[in-house]
Amino acid sequence: MNYKIAVIPGDGIGPEVIEETVKILDKIGVDFGHSFKYEYLLAGGCAIDEKGTPLPQETLEACKNSDSILLGAVGGPKWDIPNAKVRPEQALLGLRGGLNLYCNLRPALLYEPLKDASPLKESVIGDGIDILVVRELTGGIYFGERGKEEVNGVESAYDTEIYNVNEVKRIAKIGFETAMKRDKNLTSVDKANILESSRLWRRVVDEMSKDYPEVKVNHLYIDNAAMQLVKDPKQFDVIVTSNMFGDILSDEASMITGSIGMLPSASLGDGKLGIYEPIHGSAPDIAGKGIANPLATILSAAMMLRHSFGLEEEAMLIEKSVIEVLEEGYRTGDIMSLGMKLIGTKEIGRLVLNKIVK
Ligand code: NAD
Repeated sequence: MNYKIAVIPGDGIGPEVIEETVKILDKIGVDFGHSFKYEYLLAGGCAIDEKGTPLPQETLEACKNSDSILLGAVGGPKWDIPNAKVRPEQALLGLRGGLNLYCNLRPALLYEPLKDASPLKESVIGDGIDILVVRELTGGIYFGERGKEEVNGVESAYDTEIYNVNEVKRIAKIGFETAMKRDKNLTSVDKANILESSRLWRRVVDEMSKDYPEVKVNHLYIDNAAMQLVKDPKQFDVIVTSNMFGDILSDEASMITGSIGMLPSASLGDGKLGIYEPIHGSAPDIAGKGIANPLATILSAAMMLRHSFGLEEEAMLIEKSVIEVLEEGYRTGDIMSLGMKLIGTKEIGRLVLNKIVK
């Protein structure tokens, strides 16, 4: 099969982690007889520098015309100017909104060989953590009306959280359906004791639960969910939540699994097209040093093979290869622990590549 992949390396460590990932995809292509054609595109800070906008129209168009999108990371201190009209992160919102990718899947998996990297005690981790956060991505406060105004002579600013029933239904459906494929345990996170939009969210989730009688549904307020995630992470299977709560909770979930450099994500809509990217940012503090962990991006490519192309065997081979390299004791700096072998971006990429054999 032929697949057209839009590749957006972005800024900071983005290009470094993408480079290793493309090598892995190429090897998968050779071994399994697929042809991956890459179109490299500008977005983020580098696009502001070259085109004056974080998301050039040609990038959005090329993404719409591809089978899938692989993204490194965008942003950095160079473009982090208060009151700037254009910011690199606008590229992400523009892509998600422009492609109607309303669902973000973020698996938070604690790999057995990385148990030591988790800040939680072994008694809390038990035999591992495996949580899937399903985050709404194109609604809520990140997309609601916002503005600045003077109120009684005082400078003020506001943002608006708004959800309609259809937006909640479509993300809850993904929550229920992914729970059905896993442990049938769905936690819906909101702030229904305070927010009207959360009360709507909770009501819709409850109504939909009638269609999924096998799924055990639990509602948690966001503050409690944030505490439970560190107190007893093993109680969670699938978490479904709004854009902002999902943003924060999925970062927390990533920390308890040890490293932000390990976690992939997928942003999906109704069709097969998706954006696959590591959850970490552009890590400007380590960019260009050859020490970034490319595994989150490599695992994002595995999610792409699974969710956009339906290539389960290929996806599993990548995931298995990553685990084997970790089991052999190789680590980048972010996941390093006593007695392990410290290596750089290219080295760990090559080790994973060597394991990719059909
Ligand atoms: P970050 O994720 O870039 O970095 C946080 C810390 O984790 C840093 O110490 C960094 O060195 C480390 N780290 C991150 N990824 C790593 C990897 N693969 N290997 C090893 N260490 C890694 O978050 P930040 O510092 O808050 O943000 C930096 C820039 O990235 C900002 O401009 C921010 O807006 C942007 N950002 C972009 C995205 C995205 O493109 N999706 C997401 C988050 C942040």
